[in-house]
Amino acid sequence: MKIARFNGGRIGVVVGDRIHDVTDACGVDPAEWPPMGMITTIAAFDELRPGIERDLGLSVGLPVADVALETPIPWPHKLLALPNNYRAHTAEMGNNSIDAGNAGFFMKSSASLSGPSDAVVLPERPGRNFHHECELAIVVGRAGRKIALDDALDYIFGYACLIDVTMRGKEERVMRKSFDTFCPVGPWITTADEVGPTDDLVLRLWVNGELKQQAPVSEMVVGIREAIVLCSAVTTLQPGDIIASGTMSGVGPIVPGDSVRIAIEKVGEMTIPIVADEPVTV
Ligand code: MN
Repeated sequence: MKIARFNGGRIGVVVGDRIHDVTDACGVDPAEWPPMGMITTIAAFDELRPGIERDLGLSVGLPVADVALETPIPWPHKLLALPNNYRAHTAEMGNNSIDAGNAGFFMKSSASLSGPSDAVVLPERPGRNFHHECELAIVVGRAGRKIALDDALDYIFGYACLIDVTMRGKEERVMRKSFDTFCPVGPWITTADEVGPTDDLVLRLWVNGELKQQAPVSEMVVGIREAIVLCSAVTTLQPGDIIASGTMSGVGPIVPGDSVRIAIEKVGEMTIPIVADEPVTV
């Protein structure tokens, strides 16, 4: 199932090129604050699923192209991320001795999340440039700590495309990756049962139509199950938590006016415009 957030906090299921509104079946108030509706939907998904499927069957739906898709989980408890998780990217960054296998994870502000209809807004930072990082987002389905490798897949709700936009420079990593809009996620969450085996999934990213990054999930240093083990060894995972699983080689600069497209087989694809921020005036 492909579950989206759209038109101001509504919950929808995407089938083909149409989206079906299942907000009521999920018990979600689109106007709620904070916007937790997708998280409560994920947490109770097994119980909600029959009602969602019933409403889905009764709905004519809307063309996906006619709605504004939003970042699926705007208010997660945590946005975790793996560094240097493909050997070829580790080499291109000159960090041959460091990878996610021994460096663990870092955190990116969940306030950086943006959606498939949003632009990435680059701030004015003299002497700094900004890179795209093509990543698979792992969406956690239920709470867990110290999760065993054999159990890890039971804790995954689904997957989405994620661009870990990064300012290169000497500042703290968490700040360089946490500007507002620096984490496009979407276009929806595709549930793990629909995605099926992940090893052969290929992630791709283009800038202005030119392919820049491409690799299968199987080339990750820390695999999907291992990422659940690694993160949950430290912190209790919660439904709706997002793990950015790291990028492959081919990262490079993006500038205002660019268009970045990310696609992951069986998961989805989205195209994000890059714009310049308004100058700060004080
Ligand atoms: Mn990254």
